[in-house]
Parts: sequence; structure tokens; C-alpha cells
Amino acid sequence: YVKERGKNDYMIFNQQMEHQSLERRLLENALRQGIREQQFYLEYQPKVNMTSNKLMGMEALVRWNHPELGIISPGKFIPLAEESGLIVPLGEWILRESCRQASAWGALDVPPLTLSVNISVRQLVDRDFVDKLKTILQETGLNPRRLELEITESVLANIKSTIPILKEIKKLGIQISIDDFGTGYSSLSYIKELPIDTLKIDQSFVKDIHTNKESKEIAKAIINLASSIGLNVIAEGIELEEHVDELSKDGCILGQGYFYSRPLKVEAFEDYMTTNQESLYSLN
Ligand code: C2E
Ligand code: MG
Ligand code: MG
Ligand code: MG
Repeated sequence: YVKERGKNDYMIFNQQMEHQSLERRLLENALRQGIREQQFYLEYQPKVNMTSNKLMGMEALVRWNHPELGIISPGKFIPLAEESGLIVPLGEWILRESCRQASAWGALDVPPLTLSVNISVRQLVDRDFVDKLKTILQETGLNPRRLELEITESVLANIKSTIPILKEIKKLGIQISIDDFGTGYSSLSYIKELPIDTLKIDQSFVKDIHTNKESKEIAKAIINLASSIGLNVIAEGIELEEHVDELSKDGCILGQGYFYSRPLKVEAFEDYMTTNQESLYSLN
């Protein structure tokens, strides 16, 4: 009986595995086709000075508009794109397209904005990454000082080989930010080794900063850490006035979140820029 059962379990297990890998292969092919057929587009989320309400920059966030499945969020396909290596061509498109867009916006009569682009570790350790960056900057004419790369903390904390790459990127004048800071579960000693500019407080600490003492203390510790070692700090996931108040009190000036705006398609972002500028002019 035990033997029988074991065999059945094994068969069920095997079927599940096959099902999973079939699903993965289907998605991977869809992803590949999606890249070929340009089913991806970018949204831009404002980054704001929470004291003056002035627009400081925008983060590019990728979306997949699949012909049958509709819009798929990056949380669903980025991990698969990373595992399959497809993030390398996809990420290159994201960089080129966002730099082109930011450069076009820079030509408008708007204050200088900084474009933030998320970069996966697979892209970062790709041997051609820095060359591709240079080419994209040349092609699009974007000032490298207007570009910031966001890299998640878990990656930077655990993969030492990224340090020389980050140094090369910094030499180009590009800024580097640690995304989802505070969730990397690592010792902080690595921070001083890294050639970075900004810590981005993870939204999990922002969400309940006004009601949860631990979140409040962690956010405060990150803000103090940044200031004591000369780094900028920004908070993500600002949804409420209370979030703004708490963070401002602790000395965090920059923020991003639904309270200011959801990620916007190009035209909507252009409207946002115009209104934001008008409200600035009306102050004078
Ligand atoms: P992330 O870089 O930490 O981006 C922040 C995420 O929080 C975005 O989700 C954004 O839409 C969302 N968000 C912004 N404000 C708020 C808020 O006030 N409340 C809440 N609850 N959420 C907010 P999204 O666009 O679904 O992206 C999820 C993650 O996928 C990103 O996290 C990033 O790690 C990854 N990702 C997105 N675009 C790209 C990309 O172009 N390349 C790479 N490599 N990864 C990307
Ligand atoms: Mg990010
Ligand atoms: Mg983040
Ligand atoms: Mg995140």
C-alpha cells in the first residue's frame, strides 16, 4: 500500500512539475514573442519634493500588454524574464526607450528632471552592460547626470562582483540608488563599499509608518544612516498625508507614491508635468 501510494504521489508530483514547466515554457515563449512584437510599454511615476510639492523626476515602470491576456504587471513577468535571461534584451529596450523619452522631455521647457530606471542583476552582470549604457546615452543624447539606476538591495548586498561595474557606471556620471532598502536582510557594513548616491526606503515601512512603531523606527534609522554617510534618501509607497508628515518630520524630503500620482502613461505624465509647472508659476 505504501509503495502504491508513493508511486501515485510521485506521478501526481511529476504531472504537476510537467504542468508547471509547460506553463513556464508557454509564458517564456510569449515573453519572447512580446519583445519581438513590441507588446511592452512604459509608465512614469513622479518623484516629488514633499516640502515644495515640486516634481523632481520620474521612475520608468514597464508594462506588458498581451494581445489575449491584457495588461500584465511586472511582478508577474520580471522574475521569469530574469530566470530565462530575456531581461537582458527587454531591459535594454526599457533603458533605450526611457532615455529617449526623458531626453525628449528635457528639450521641453521643464525644470531638469531625473529619470530612474530599474535594473536587474542579470543586466548588471552582463558583460556588455556598460558599453550598452554608453551607446544608449550617445544615441538618445540624455545627460548622464539626469539618469539614475535603481538596483534592489538584496542584489547589491550579496553579489560583490557588482562593485567594479557600479564604479564604471558612476564614472559615466550616472547616479545609483538602492531600491527596496531595508528588506535585504544583510549587515550594513557593505554600504560603505558601494559607490551609491541614494537609499530608497521600501514601501513596507512607509505603509504603516503612522501606526506602527517598528516601521517608524526603521524608516527613521534609514534616514539617519543616509544623512550620516552623505547619501540622499527617498521614500516609496506614499499613499497618505500622514506618510508625508511622518517622513518629513524625520527629515526625508523626497517621496513617490499614489498620494502624488500613480504611474502614468506618456500623455498623462505630460499633463502632470504641465499642471505641476503651472502650480509652481502661480506661486510666484
Ligand atoms: P519597484 O521598483 O520597487 O517599484 C515600485 C512599485 O510600487 C511599482 O509597482 C509601483 O507601481 C508601486 N507603487 C508606487 N507607488 C505606490 C503606492 O503609493 N502604493 C503602492 N501600494 N504601490 C505603489 P510595479 O510597477 O508593479 O513594479 C513592481 C516591481 O517590478 C518594481 O518594484 C521593480 O522591482 C519591478 N520593475 C518594474 N519595472 C521594471 C523595469 O523596467 N525593469 C526591471 N528590471 N524591473 C522592473
Ligand atoms: Mg524601483
Ligand atoms: Mg522599490
Ligand atoms: Mg518594490
